Amino acid sequence: MNITRKDFLKRGACFTVMGGLFARVSETMAQAQEKTRVSERSSRIRDVEVFPYSIKENIEGTTAVGNISYAENFLVRLRTENGVVGHGEGSPFPSITAETQKSAVVMAKQLGETLRGRDPFTIARIVADMDTFAPNNPSSKAALEMAVWDICGKITGQPVCSLLGRYRDAFETDKTVFMGSPERMAATSRGIVNDGFKIIKVKVGESPEMDTARLRAIREAVGPNIRIRIDANQGWTPAEAVRCLRQIEKYQVEFAEQPVVYWDWVGMKFVRDNAPLPVMADESVHVEHDAIEGIRQNAIDIINIKLMKAGGILHGMRIAEVAAAADLKCMVGCMAESKVGLTAGAHLVCAQKCILYADLDAGLFLSEEPVIGGMEIKDGIVNIPHAPGLGLDLDPAFVGRLHAA
Ligand code: MG
Repeated sequence: MNITRKDFLKRGACFTVMGGLFARVSETMAQAQEKTRVSERSSRIRDVEVFPYSIKENIEGTTAVGNISYAENFLVRLRTENGVVGHGEGSPFPSITAETQKSAVVMAKQLGETLRGRDPFTIARIVADMDTFAPNNPSSKAALEMAVWDICGKITGQPVCSLLGRYRDAFETDKTVFMGSPERMAATSRGIVNDGFKIIKVKVGESPEMDTARLRAIREAVGPNIRIRIDANQGWTPAEAVRCLRQIEKYQVEFAEQPVVYWDWVGMKFVRDNAPLPVMADESVHVEHDAIEGIRQNAIDIINIKLMKAGGILHGMRIAEVAAAADLKCMVGCMAESKVGLTAGAHLVCAQKCILYADLDAGLFLSEEPVIGGMEIKDGIVNIPHAPGLGLDLDPAFVGRLHAA
């Protein structure tokens, strides 16, 4: 092909302009990449603080698995290099999670050291590494992990439930009636209904006769339109469970939670096969492999997910996915968390279609609330905040009294 000198110069000029443009584009891309690298670096987790705290419960919470008079919890505060703060909370329960406040705080601090310098958007990797470091210790891992979710939400400007794949915006919770005389439990139940709640969770698991008397008194006190569920907290033998559930069927109980000791899958299946009510696993299912075992044994209808047993939101999501795949339903429950841990649980409820039940009432029993914002309960309906992350802050007056461990 022949080209004239004029054409050659024109094309040369064109290449020069394009070259310049390309160089400028490359420069801009390099600047953008550097900017991203800087922002990635600066969103890495830098500070980890753990604060133990105790709050008196405003009632003596008596259950078949132990009494609660103090919430002995701890708060976690993570901070990224560019100053984004994430909050988390652990609420250890010795007879269920095999952790005390002291042991959980020690482990949270050690696990926290492994989070320094980590990219918060690698939660699956963070959780896997924490599980390798400490296969148990669920409340320590849950506290740290929910703080990481809080950071991710704040950086992206999204509430945690949206990061999880939001399914709903609000849901209904029950309120618990702890064990006592039938008369006292009936009076408490009436008060709960007067406060606007439509669902009551009744703690039982003493003897079938006493528990039947409790259910009779409560149903008479609240009338036919209030939903009642029961939690035996492992208190019955399989035979006692079947006897009691047959006796209380006439009081319209929607399901029976953890009727027998946590390790007895054969006993759970016996209850499920012989009792007229759906059976829920709580203490029997901590993480997803427990859920699979319950499903294999055909022993359960519903799973009570708790972040403090599961070790965090991601494990909670996995339990719900396993349950949904086996056509089981789930509840999200709690230990003695304040609104930090409860709000994290509420985000999980909003993220999964199969989570049809909620028992997120622990904050109602605390004599003090360390949180500003977070989930709200009105007439039993829980609304989660739309603010980024968990959607809450800690009360500065409360935080001012805390000492880092
Ligand atoms: Mg329970």
